[in-house]
Amino acid sequence: MTAGKGGRPVRWETIHKSIQRGIRRPNMVDYEVERATFTWEDARTALDGLPGGRGLNIAHEAVDRHAAGSRRDHVALRCVGRHGERQDVTYGELAERTSRFANALEALGVQAGERVFVLLPRAVDLYVAALGTLKHRSVLCPLFAAFGPEPIRQRLELGTGCVLVTTPTLYRRKVVEIRDRLPELRHVLLTGDFPTPGSDLREDTLKLDTLLDAVSADYEIGRTDPQEMALLHFTSGTTGTPKGAVHVHEAVVSHHATGRIALDLHPEDVFWCTADPGWVTGTSYGIISPLVHGVTCIVDEGDFDADRWYGVLETEGVSVWYTAPTALRMLMQAGSDAANTHDLSRLRFVASVGEPLNPEAVVWGQEALGVPIHDNWWQTETGGIMVANYACMDIRPGSMGRPLPGIEASVLVRDERGHVVVAGDGAALAAADNEEGELALRPGWPSMFRDYLGENERYRRCFVDGWYLSGDLVRRDADGYFWFVGRGDDVIKSAGHLIGPFEVESTLLEHPAVAEAGVIGKPDPLSGEVVKAFVTLRAGYEPTEDLRLDLIGFSRKRLGAAVAPREIEFDQHLPHTHSGKIVRRLLKARELGNGEGDTSSLEEQP
Ligand code: ATP
Ligand code: MG
Repeated sequence: MTAGKGGRPVRWETIHKSIQRGIRRPNMVDYEVERATFTWEDARTALDGLPGGRGLNIAHEAVDRHAAGSRRDHVALRCVGRHGERQDVTYGELAERTSRFANALEALGVQAGERVFVLLPRAVDLYVAALGTLKHRSVLCPLFAAFGPEPIRQRLELGTGCVLVTTPTLYRRKVVEIRDRLPELRHVLLTGDFPTPGSDLREDTLKLDTLLDAVSADYEIGRTDPQEMALLHFTSGTTGTPKGAVHVHEAVVSHHATGRIALDLHPEDVFWCTADPGWVTGTSYGIISPLVHGVTCIVDEGDFDADRWYGVLETEGVSVWYTAPTALRMLMQAGSDAANTHDLSRLRFVASVGEPLNPEAVVWGQEALGVPIHDNWWQTETGGIMVANYACMDIRPGSMGRPLPGIEASVLVRDERGHVVVAGDGAALAAADNEEGELALRPGWPSMFRDYLGENERYRRCFVDGWYLSGDLVRRDADGYFWFVGRGDDVIKSAGHLIGPFEVESTLLEHPAVAEAGVIGKPDPLSGEVVKAFVTLRAGYEPTEDLRLDLIGFSRKRLGAAVAPREIEFDQHLPHTHSGKIVRRLLKARELGNGEGDTSSLEEQP
């Protein structure tokens, strides 16, 4: 361990980009220069706009403009089925299929601004429905196919969905029982084949393919105001009931800019974002950003499996990969040998989002994949990447990187009640270097959410003194790198110390026995809270008393007694959201014997 700037310990040295494989000229060659010169007005000019000055539409930028140009025959989507079967869709084909979908909505009398929900597995139909909806100027709301009936009903009701696109199987398993409680839902469109229309199907349940066959493959996108609502995304529900974040067509400017700067997309890239479009990452970066850049996008229908994923990376020749810490931790758990049997030499840039990325994982990437992992930070509310480690910049493992050019980020001081401190002149107080505070962003970037649907008061509470408050605690070092401390709600206050669970979890992960860890504050009459860790062990380790003591000793040596966990409990099934995040609020509720609150976004427990 070395002393970092400002006296904070830095456990890993900087990863210098010169050791990175496949050195090539990144889109952004100098962060400081780009930051000084970047404007969102310039970023807008990189896009086409609808012909005849009729506004800005996401689907035009992602599909139609490529189909009308030299990339017409370039593969837009390469869909890999559960059993390895493959289907390629070119930009030209995607343009026609999405036009049919838009015409079908038109034929059903759906109006611009009405909400179209999509509950589909990751296969071509999902992408056609999503982009066709955007073409039609109705609002896209993708749902994760693993949701149960109640979370689906909640979201359809909150979003007043008028159309739901799903498969016959998902319909029977999840929609039939809630259908009567959704009076606003006018049409259910079923993909694929279903045997006997009739029996359990109502007459407003239609076969999508029949509708698509009956309409034209030409569609002229109507005038689209960039400020028109385009997407409704529900947050992950990590801290409570999911919120419906409203996004507009102008968001595509951010998706393009971040694809260029933060993901370093080049026209010849094969890009794979492992997130499901049911989460904002899977739409912003699994659909919009790569297609706007005209690259080939890999879509894998299957779920996580180390061999399968390495196989996809190798066989499809993925060059840019965007994934999540939980997946990386599982790959680490599978061991480097699993990686070494695959040729991953095409991989040139790997990024991660969604949870803090442990320094361990960044370094593991360099060893096992041949490239380090670039952590970046953003939220459903921000619509696109806000803070990132970039291709042209050295990585500081454990740091989320620096604000995107065009984004002004600050660290604001909070008082002991958790309120942002506003000085006498009404200005929010900025934290000093390395001081912890709340990550705040200056509003005005194109993909910023415009409301929480049906919760405008809550939306307005997110803004103080001209800043958007993210709810996450961070610190910024003297060189401008941001370090995640914890979600506002997860931070532990113990004997006068503020402890971020991430720091403790990362330390535990350095121990060879630990696969995953979730850390909470457990109420304590003396210290306020004490640190308690729930630990999942790697295969081959037994949950013995000796190991528990060893882990406590191991953490004490690294973190000091004030920060190290006082208690450790072995738990092979930590609660996760469907998007893979550890849900600390649930660990805490269970510890306290309290109710579990909203669990609609959670993975089912075995
Ligand atoms: P909810 O708001 O419903 O509780 P959520 O905040 O998990 O759920 P998302 O918008 O999907 O919903 O996730 C954004 C949050 O994920 C961020 O606010 C942050 O807490 C966490 N996060 C995202 N990226 C990172 C990162 N690179 N490092 C640390 N945390 C991250
Ligand atoms: Mg959130």
